[in-house]
Amino acid sequence: MSDTIEKVKCLIIGSGPAGYTAAIYASRANMFPVLYQGTQPGGQLTTTNEVENWPGNPEGITGPEMMVGLQAQAQRFGADVRDGWVTKVDFSGDVHKAWIQDDKEIHAETIIISTGATAKYLGLPSEQKYLNLGGGVSACAVCDGFFYRNQEVVIVGAGDSACEEAHYLSKLCTKVTMIVRKDEFRASKIMAERVRKTENISILYNTETDEVLGDGQVVTGVRVKNNVTGVLTEIPATGFFVAIGHKPNTDIFKDYLDLDETGYIKNIPGTAKTNVPGVFVGGDAADHVYRQAITAAGTGCMAALDAERYLAAKE
Ligand SMILES: Cc1cc2nc3c(=O)[nH]c(=O)nc-3n(C[C@H](O)[C@H](O)[C@H](O)COP(=O)(O)OP(=O)(O)OC[C@H]3O[C@@H](n4cnc5c(N)ncnc54)[C@H](O)[C@@H]3O)c2cc1C
Repeated sequence: MSDTIEKVKCLIIGSGPAGYTAAIYASRANMFPVLYQGTQPGGQLTTTNEVENWPGNPEGITGPEMMVGLQAQAQRFGADVRDGWVTKVDFSGDVHKAWIQDDKEIHAETIIISTGATAKYLGLPSEQKYLNLGGGVSACAVCDGFFYRNQEVVIVGAGDSACEEAHYLSKLCTKVTMIVRKDEFRASKIMAERVRKTENISILYNTETDEVLGDGQVVTGVRVKNNVTGVLTEIPATGFFVAIGHKPNTDIFKDYLDLDETGYIKNIPGTAKTNVPGVFVGGDAADHVYRQAITAAGTGCMAALDAERYLAAKE
């Protein structure tokens, strides 16, 4: 363990749109933020090629390009962007403590958590192959549905989010096939009913994904298996959407912060405040509803403004 403790006004944990936006605002407010990037510098968007719904880029922008721009903008105002990730925190006292890779100890007057969330995938090799190629596998219908307009897609999942995403896709695509593992939805009755009533959504119950099919570059279909009869069927599709949930990256905070039943940090409604004074949250770590770059940036901004006001009130 390092024996020097670094004291900072504002520690930002995470380098997605929420973290960098918080860093832009915090540096412009003279809070001299220190930002740790984590194991995925730039966050989730670094895994996507096309971002077409980030305002201000009429022709769209690649995820990595967008995140390099956000980082540069934060650094232009003096944000101290560092490699490394937080492995432990202690929010029990007046001073908020965080440890970088269990070694370096930081004492922060304010902490902004922007650690995001990770989409869950099935884990099939064929799914991962086309996901990594950017060839038709997605975990976000709102982000990628537009690329499949007037095409046929398959979506896996049975919860409220899966129903919402299937319904969203049904407005863009000619046909949506929904794969449900059990003989019923997990979703609320109202959401399941909406999907059942949508003409171009066909639902396959007791069905699991056997393989995502493709031509080596892009998805061309999905082979599914009925888990009661064992019958295999091939469904033609250009897009394969996985809607089986997200895991918020919040484990290290669970002893101190109020989390909901799925691990999202609970913020005080209308603010970026958590239950611990001086600890704020922005982005997907607290958002299981919208999960977009623009909402992450918006709540990152809120977190920095709330942190600035917290410091001002203490002076
Ligand atoms: C494939 C894909 C495509 C998408 N396309 C779009 C799109 O087109 N448009 C759109 O608006 N949204 C899109 N999204 C959603 C968007 O990426 C997220 O909503 C957004 O990135 C959330 O931002 P965030 O700042 O909350 O966190 P994230 O982007 O999730 O970043 C989290 C950050 O926290 C860091 N971190 C985690 N744990 C620690 C730790 N312990 N210590 C330090 N750092 C840590 C990580 O390294 C990472 O930098 C897409 C998502 C995916 C996966």
